[in-house]
Amino acid sequence: MSDYAKILVAVDLSEDSNRIVQRARAVASGATAELHIIHVIEPLSFAYGGDIPMDFSGIQDEIYQQASQQLQRFAESNGVDEAHRHIVMGRPEVEIHNLAEELHADLIVVGSHGRHGLALLMGSTANGVLHGAKRDVLAVRVGAPD
Ligand code: AMP
Repeated sequence: MSDYAKILVAVDLSEDSNRIVQRARAVASGATAELHIIHVIEPLSFAYGGDIPMDFSGIQDEIYQQASQQLQRFAESNGVDEAHRHIVMGRPEVEIHNLAEELHADLIVVGSHGRHGLALLMGSTANGVLHGAKRDVLAVRVGAPD
């Protein structure tokens, strides 16, 4: 049994996401922990900024719709209530922290790829979430085994 009352699981909607939610459920089991999931969409303007003089709003809306549908399917297959699904725009690590604060979550669960070399230097969402975290963070190892 765990002491956690509210768990926020960050999902990028890749195949690994099922495993991450299963781990979170295992931690929550026995307790009456509430499980929330968050998916963050990075605005295209973050990547392309003012470099490309183009209106991204149509593409951005399309990306949002697709992601909402994917999150809905994912949540339904993992038994996560509608009120516990969150989709937001921004930088993943920032928005994950913001929502955890807002919900008063006491645990954040993220996936973590065992990175090496250059990829390690570039950092990861898991590192970003861990950095300055005001609550416990569980990093679930995902990706190919060593
Ligand atoms: P990454 O460092 O991007 O390989 O992602 C590692 C983990 O960070 C994922 O397994 C998710 O738990 C979380 N994550 C990455 N991107 C997002 C996103 N856009 N929205 C929510 N969580 C994310």
